[in-house]
Amino acid sequence: MRDYSNHSTNRAPARDVEITGIDTAVVEGNFDWNLVRVHTDAGVSGIGESYRGGGVTGIMEYMAEFLVGENPLDVERLFRRMVQETSGHGGTTGKVVTAASGIEIALWDLAGKLLDVPTYQLLGGKYRDDVRIYCDLHAGEAYAVDSGYTAYSDEAAYRPEAYAETAKQAVAMGFDAIKFDLDTPSDNDQDPFNGRLSGAAIEEKREIVAAVDDAVGDAAEVAFDCHWDYSIDTAKRLAQALEPYGLLWLEDVVPPENITAQREVARSTSTPLAAGENRFRVHEFSDMLYEHAVDVVTPDPTTCGGLAESRAIANRAEENYITFSPHNVCGPVGTMACVHLGASVANFGYLEYHALEVDWWDDLLVRAEPLIQDGRIEVPETPGLGVELDETVAAEHAVGDGLWN
Ligand code: MG
Repeated sequence: MRDYSNHSTNRAPARDVEITGIDTAVVEGNFDWNLVRVHTDAGVSGIGESYRGGGVTGIMEYMAEFLVGENPLDVERLFRRMVQETSGHGGTTGKVVTAASGIEIALWDLAGKLLDVPTYQLLGGKYRDDVRIYCDLHAGEAYAVDSGYTAYSDEAAYRPEAYAETAKQAVAMGFDAIKFDLDTPSDNDQDPFNGRLSGAAIEEKREIVAAVDDAVGDAAEVAFDCHWDYSIDTAKRLAQALEPYGLLWLEDVVPPENITAQREVARSTSTPLAAGENRFRVHEFSDMLYEHAVDVVTPDPTTCGGLAESRAIANRAEENYITFSPHNVCGPVGTMACVHLGASVANFGYLEYHALEVDWWDDLLVRAEPLIQDGRIEVPETPGLGVELDETVAAEHAVGDGLWN
């Protein structure tokens, strides 16, 4: 096995720093947000976030065993060491890569703080001063928790007028790009297993899209997510039925494993197709990008390997003239990591924001202004990610006793 531990001793004293430990925390928002802190003997720590869900913080804590004593400035080497050391645990894909992603992000925060530059500067510099955000929306009341949004009954939630009303509210908040789920419970009425929709069911979806398009006009671009639900014939007919509406994209219209099927749908329609949020590392994106199976690629940087791996994916997308629009369901820490990435990538489109129903989302950071203003996040000029966690607020929503473990 290759040895990815530190073989370099030639380092200026100011950059001769060692990792001394790792803490993790889980904050319960609309998802369980997995946070990580990496400490050093320089008295500086970095913060990162991994994609939501169980089991991730335990893997991070396991990784501390071989990260302690390492120099945190060797971010990309340490990412490879995390993959290498966990190869027997599935370190090339899945939850192990998700755990490494949050640590990698914390290392970029740490590197920026140690070198006194914003993280985007270390990713190659910036193309833009702010990053455009698209707001993920749901018409149903199940997602309208404490948000001030109109609450519809379950039955009414999936009517076109419910989507249209929610869309107008988001535009009024300043978003010029929004996304809804287009897969609805009625998809299961005929047969929940075969992925097929009748012509009437496709017409119901077209009516939802038409209502949103009519409601927002030119004020916002609109995407719809299908969550991998449809057979190839249904996917083609749906994408073609939506062509008149000039969608921002139609997301995950067929199951994720089969790139050939994805490419077949893409070649059958002028509706732009997006996919990528459940793939890991650049290797799982190359075929998709070089075979033009998508028009928009949507990796989740807190899932797929962190900021450098996401930039490598973005670079392959750029080579193929494909837009890079990261998936994101994080709290503000992971979101800000994606902002630095979006600033540093030429072919960046939009970054997802998926926490409208969490009215304390902004309170997790120590800052005077909301993070998102007029549908954008300004790229910070402060060192590292430019975020300071409000530990009191985070502790109020932490899973378990106290915040950091
Ligand atoms: Mg999605």
